[in-house]
Amino acid sequence: MEKALRIKIKGIVQGVGFRPFVYRIARENNIKGFVRNEGGMVVIEAEGSNMDSFLKALKERKPPMAEIMDIKVDEIEHRRFKDFVIESSESSDEGRFLSPDIATCDECLRELFDPEDRRYLYPFINCTNCGPRFTIIESLPYDRERTTMKEFKMCKACENEYRDPASRRFHAQPDCCAVCGPEVELLSNEKEIAKGNEAVKISAELLLEGRIVAIKGLGGFHLACDATDERAVEALRVRKGRESKPFALMAPLKLIKDLCEVSSEEEELLLSPRRPIVLLRRKPYDRTTGAVAESVAPYNRYLGFMLPYTPIHHILFSLLNKPLVMTSANISESPIIHKNEEILSSRLADFYLTHNREIHTRCDDSVAFIQNGEIVTRRARGYAPEPIEARVSEGVLACGAHTKNTFAITLKGKVIMSQHIGDLEESYPFYEEEIEHFKSIFSFKPALIAYDLHPEYLSTKYAIAQEGEKIGIQHHHAHICSCMAENCIDEALGIAFDGSGYGTDGNIWGGEFMVCDFEGFERIAYLEYIPMPGGAKAIEEPWRMKLAYLSKIGALSFASEEEREKWRILSKFLDRYPLTSSAGRLFDAVSALIGIRDVSRYEGEAAIALEMMADENEKGSYDAGIKGDTISFLPMIEEIVDSPEKKEKIAGKFHNTIANVILEVCVNEGIKDIALSGGVFQNRLLLKKTFDLLTTNGFRVHMHHRVPTNDGCISFGQACIAGRRE
Ligand code: ZN
Ligand code: ZN
Ligand code: FE
Repeated sequence: MEKALRIKIKGIVQGVGFRPFVYRIARENNIKGFVRNEGGMVVIEAEGSNMDSFLKALKERKPPMAEIMDIKVDEIEHRRFKDFVIESSESSDEGRFLSPDIATCDECLRELFDPEDRRYLYPFINCTNCGPRFTIIESLPYDRERTTMKEFKMCKACENEYRDPASRRFHAQPDCCAVCGPEVELLSNEKEIAKGNEAVKISAELLLEGRIVAIKGLGGFHLACDATDERAVEALRVRKGRESKPFALMAPLKLIKDLCEVSSEEEELLLSPRRPIVLLRRKPYDRTTGAVAESVAPYNRYLGFMLPYTPIHHILFSLLNKPLVMTSANISESPIIHKNEEILSSRLADFYLTHNREIHTRCDDSVAFIQNGEIVTRRARGYAPEPIEARVSEGVLACGAHTKNTFAITLKGKVIMSQHIGDLEESYPFYEEEIEHFKSIFSFKPALIAYDLHPEYLSTKYAIAQEGEKIGIQHHHAHICSCMAENCIDEALGIAFDGSGYGTDGNIWGGEFMVCDFEGFERIAYLEYIPMPGGAKAIEEPWRMKLAYLSKIGALSFASEEEREKWRILSKFLDRYPLTSSAGRLFDAVSALIGIRDVSRYEGEAAIALEMMADENEKGSYDAGIKGDTISFLPMIEEIVDSPEKKEKIAGKFHNTIANVILEVCVNEGIKDIALSGGVFQNRLLLKKTFDLLTTNGFRVHMHHRVPTNDGCISFGQACIAGRRE
């Protein structure tokens, strides 16, 4: 039967190859009419008799990065279209949203390894379903002239595809081939060694020999080495100035499965077009599988793996069957290197596999894991700058926190969060530059600037220096509202456990129970204050927190002679140190107390080591005291100090104790919606225990899925609070 329909589709449907896709399925089903972008929607008018099959294809075969959130179908009058066309857009809103970079799609991969295809082994193959986006765009609207592909003039064959609505490369701005597009080259000490596929082939050989090769990716360079070669990995640690923080790995799926447990959800996440680094549980150590070197992720239960995501990666892995370390090319915490000149002068690698397509915008790899759904701990490549639906007005610039910084802007009904910017101490110029970039690409003018209350955060200082209306937002209020907003709830008992955040009483908060809505909060309970001996130094040196706790329970005799000597000096200034209710510092103190880590060589190391040590099957726990709004862990510290038990058991009991305390406070309060936020909930053991315990006791537990639980979520929370103000 002939039908005429108007179909309105909301969701992520622009800049992801949606219109060409609709065009193709319309042709397949002999449907006449048109498709066009209207506002944030795609609108289709369709006439024909195969409507059911057309609608089915629309829903089931959508492009990889497209997300249909709402689809509305109405019958309309027949207009007797002659053809199906892609109409040019009417709305000026088009192009206000920008797609993240997308991993090479299956169709391009097939062509890449097809000797008959004209792009056989061409390392820059892409189409409207995949390829670079965000990182090559200089300004909007999105077309080639305003991307770093402008240097390359399309050849006739590419141009024909570009203009053909039936082609997968219709309006694919980075479309190119070996005739007209960019080219890879391999260099050492600025000397050219090889070009094209010869360069990739030699790189594979060099990697197998144990050399460090810098490889240009989508948002910056990686430093790569053979992950099974202990010597190479150690050498990389020295170059990068990174002592023990785990390295990310890349390998094909089969190899990953040899080394790690991979659930079906984890496999799906690994394979998703976003291609994040996924934290996977290691299989028991087995030398025969060619296990990764110990120094890749010392004492960690998890390995962070990602699949190859650019054509260069795919060609490389067709030549070597080994996992590679693929860590951001930078020194320590500074931003990822993304310019050819900079990587070549860095001397970070032995060899440089680079190319002449410039990266305009830096973007790190994203990191995620599965724990009752997807949890993103670093939101960057593949995710940013995808908009997140939220009830917000337009015009808010949310400046974020200080470490793991992101910032965010609001357009009506949407929050666009920046990619992971990092530690502002190291990344401040990148932060300022990226805010300007966002203002320009999204034609954004801030009407209200939201910032953290911490006077020393560089994001706060940035905000204060700007003109216009501003609003200061308490750190943990932002944490909890961030979690509530992404879970679409308006009120909750929030549990914000993190390292530190500036409290309204001037103390350093971080173990907070607060009843929140978007207007304000009531702090109903928190961890008992304890001084941080030496201030911020206590964050890197957990032995200081251990001594603070020992002194509080009068048990300094358990400290070593040397520590007691240090304490004699430190204790003279006890009334000058900042007070903290931080859960992160409690984890640090216990880690030091039972001899796991005295110092943290990277952020949170002592607490992470405590998690990794814990016996996950331990059922026991310690006593804690809840008096009024104060939660004291001193009884627990007393028990631990006296305990003859093994570290594994103590660490396990400690995690149970924290979960029990959380349950007790929630039961006392009575609110059923619980929102978890803060860096401490990156601890998977604690997250799992807390989630299970609260759900079995009838609570609805909300956690972060779309934005990080660490300070990467602060900008989103600030944007949602400020964006709801009248
Ligand atoms: Zn593709
Ligand atoms: Zn070409
Ligand atoms: Fe925080």
